[in-house]
Amino acid sequence: MIATSDTAEDFVQDRLDKVRQRIQDAATQAARPAAAINLLAVSKAQTVTAIRTAHNAGQHHFGENYVVEAVAKIEALVDLPICWHFIGALQANKTAAVAAHFDWVQSVDRIKIAQRLSTQRPVDLPPLNICVQVNLNQELQKAGVDPAEALSLCDDIAQLPKLQLRGLMAIPATDLGVQAQRQTFQALTQLHTTIHKQLQLANFDTISMGMSADFEEAIAAGSTLVRVGTAIFGQRL
Ligand SMILES: *Cc1c(COP(=O)(O)O)cnc(C)c1O
Repeated sequence: MIATSDTAEDFVQDRLDKVRQRIQDAATQAARPAAAINLLAVSKAQTVTAIRTAHNAGQHHFGENYVVEAVAKIEALVDLPICWHFIGALQANKTAAVAAHFDWVQSVDRIKIAQRLSTQRPVDLPPLNICVQVNLNQELQKAGVDPAEALSLCDDIAQLPKLQLRGLMAIPATDLGVQAQRQTFQALTQLHTTIHKQLQLANFDTISMGMSADFEEAIAAGSTLVRVGTAIFGQRL
């Protein structure tokens, strides 16, 4: 059966409502205000139409992983006041495009990338919001700075003029049991608290963790920004 555009819109609207309700419930459960948790709609491999639909349904923050795909979508959606977050692996030769088109980069894990983003950020735009990605489970193949080096990387990034360091991001290993997963989320919150105390940074307010499969756990452990793709848009194309 071919879905009409009406049903496709209802689909995204319904799923967005369900995700918002789940965030609300998880916040209540954790005795946290729901307003303390922001929702990033991860739209990689989703269409411009799907993003427009989610935006019409009140969604403001969108996350993308692939620079070329993202820039095309951002340009197709310039008429909407969307806040765009880059959350994918970032190579040095793509930093200029990211610095020019995005509002946030959540996947910074080395100083060289941060320096390029700061230098390449267009002068007429406000500082780029940055989260340092931490490799909490110290997985060999995974992006992210080692937790022991996160403080010094944050200190260095905080000196860069066209960046605003906002917090930390992590993607825990997927094969952890519930207990280890919870400890991993808690570890990011603790690391955030430590760095915040040590460096006394203004606006260091973001703990980005939790995806479709585990955002309730992440909220219980202190997440302020959950990154949700398939639970909103369905399977990726
Ligand atoms: C794809 C992706 C997500 C969303 O994953 P879902 O399981 O679809 O919710 C979140 N964060 C990052 C970094 C991603 O790459």
